[in-house]
Amino acid sequence: MNLEDINAVKKLLSKPQQIVIVPHKNPDGDAIGSTLALWHYLKNIGQEATVIAPNDYPKFLKWMPGHEHILNFEKENSQAKKKIEEATLIFTLDFNHLGRIGQMESYLEGGNAPIIMIDHHQSPSDYAQIMYSDVSMSSTCEMIYNFIEYLGDDDKITPEIADCIYTGIMTDTGSFKYSSTTSRTHNVVAALIEKGAENTKAHNLVYDTNTPSRLHLLGCALKNMVILDDYNTAYITLSQDELDTYNYQKGNTEGFVNYGLTLSGICFAVIFIENKEEGIVKISFRSEGDFSVNEFARKHFNGGGHTNAAGGRSQVSLSETVNYFVSLLQDYKAQLKP
Ligand code: 5GP
Ligand code: MN
Repeated sequence: MNLEDINAVKKLLSKPQQIVIVPHKNPDGDAIGSTLALWHYLKNIGQEATVIAPNDYPKFLKWMPGHEHILNFEKENSQAKKKIEEATLIFTLDFNHLGRIGQMESYLEGGNAPIIMIDHHQSPSDYAQIMYSDVSMSSTCEMIYNFIEYLGDDDKITPEIADCIYTGIMTDTGSFKYSSTTSRTHNVVAALIEKGAENTKAHNLVYDTNTPSRLHLLGCALKNMVILDDYNTAYITLSQDELDTYNYQKGNTEGFVNYGLTLSGICFAVIFIENKEEGIVKISFRSEGDFSVNEFARKHFNGGGHTNAAGGRSQVSLSETVNYFVSLLQDYKAQLKP
């Protein structure tokens, strides 16, 4: 963040504001962690703030300090709309184009409140008045730590804030193993533990929450895995029927896509998940090395993300989506090398 932007933020926060903080749709650990960390911080410095999530989020995140105060735009619609209307300042966290917040898009676009974007995804669009965008960052949570530090307030990081930031860094770095994890990330994490983050507890509450039906769904997903040796690619499909059979709950497929990459020689892993209610197939892409799944998702599946982790969607059937996907691979053969 440059000095001019830091000073502009300081000026805004020197006056009482009615603040709304927004994560992306289907928020993950980084989205919920960053919005809640910022929410605690803003409240602690005397601001009025509300986190409004576009929709629900997985149960394994519903322990994070302050989660019970998050408004769900789908379920608490009139209350959420009122907060957006009354907002004098808006933060958007962990996304960088307004299409990522679904129905909320038109309400944010229509307002007069200045918007501050804090995000680490590629190719930001320019809807925000103040933009802290850095694609080299492990997570939006690491950026929230920096943001609080830029404001000279790192001594105001409470154990609650530390827990929230820690959890988002943990989930977005695959527990500190992805290449986005830097020595700075570890330094931030060390500082968070010193400030009271309960690291083992966060790990247990996020990852050790399996149910028999989730493990059976994982078994089904792994059985469905197709390996395309010619393209060093592995993909998984889950149909709506299969999700129903194993009593699918939001968040239950989190992490499934990564199994493909654990096969030696595989550098591109994909999961296709049918969602009959929304009439789409949700797709997650992961890669190892230089192959940019962000570009692939952006070009072919109306999505985006990072070089090694991205998402997208398709409006045609599950089998048509998979056939289309496989038909694209020939053009990428040279890049799909481990
Ligand atoms: P996931 O596959 O876990 O849903 O998402 C992987 C990464 O891609 C995350 O950083 C997520 O924010 C991003 N992502 C997921 N779906 C989409 C999408 O539809 N559009 C864009 N632009 N990014 C996405
Ligand atoms: Mn993130």
